[in-house]
Amino acid sequence: EAKGAGRGIARYFSSELQSEQEDRVRFENDLRQAVAAKQFHLVFQPLVAAKDQKLVGFEALIRWNHPQRGFVPPNVFIPVAEEIGLMTSIGEWVIEESCRVAASWPEPITVALNVSPKQIVMPALPNTVSQCLARYKLPGNRLELEVTEGIFLGDKGSTLDVLKRLRQLGVGIALDDFGTGYSSIGYLNKAVFHKLKIDGSFVREAGTRPENLAIIQSIVQLAKSFRMTVTAEGVETAEDFERMRELGCDVIQGYLFGRPLSFERANEMVLGLSARRMIA
Ligand code: C2E
Ligand code: MG
Ligand code: MG
Ligand code: MG
Repeated sequence: EAKGAGRGIARYFSSELQSEQEDRVRFENDLRQAVAAKQFHLVFQPLVAAKDQKLVGFEALIRWNHPQRGFVPPNVFIPVAEEIGLMTSIGEWVIEESCRVAASWPEPITVALNVSPKQIVMPALPNTVSQCLARYKLPGNRLELEVTEGIFLGDKGSTLDVLKRLRQLGVGIALDDFGTGYSSIGYLNKAVFHKLKIDGSFVREAGTRPENLAIIQSIVQLAKSFRMTVTAEGVETAEDFERMRELGCDVIQGYLFGRPLSFERANEMVLGLSARRMIA
């Protein structure tokens, strides 16, 4: 009978909704516990100079291994961490850990770390960074902060101030995933960014989609006219590498030169710097 069936469906939906909410609450609690129990660690992906394939640094990427859930990707837990106000403490840990590791490596190896939009609006960020640099006696130019175009969404004008204060510490600022967001080309001439990172999606499709070649070409041109360097992300094949090098990218990142590595593996790579080229 129709009425009864309707109620059944309503009950079905509401219990599904309820269990979704319970899942979410459990996820949030696990995340809070992860912060307290220090369940995070960093992995390090090699960055290589296009001209001679020498190792120039690493990008630090956060990893969360939950005792029951296993590996939870950053794209999944970072948005939640931001929503429930955990990103400041997670972000501070990332800064501290990145400085500690960078200080253990010789010049000119740099460490790049990702900073979420929620952290950039915090006026305390430059202080946090400056204190970490001091604690580990790390020159600012050995550290790089990666931000996305999202930082300019709903900007109250403080974002550029924060970026400028970071630059005064000598820290590099890279605009990450360039071309995928709310392209804020107008902000490029403010001289706060030293680097543009071309998103891997453009790079990987450049061979099959000519329009992506055109996009990459104009990003490189734009960067050069503002005296910024360009990193190509997501370089997986020798063809990707050759193409990005020819297009004028300065730095290459991607599975071709290495997946994100444990500190120990990255450290071995640093110690083996005398092995000059990353691939033959
Ligand atoms: P991202 O900053 O653009 O980092 C690059 C992502 O591309 C990483 O994914 C990396 O593992 C992946 N990748 C690198 N080379 C290749 C390749 O050749 N092929 C493919 N298919 N992928 C490649 P991951 O580690 O899952 O990180 C995803 C995103 O999560 C990052 O994108 C970044 O936005 C965010 N994230 C990671 N760690 C942190 C962190 O410590 N703090 C913040 N705020 N965000 C982070
Ligand atoms: Mg990044
Ligand atoms: Mg990126
Ligand atoms: Mg990305």
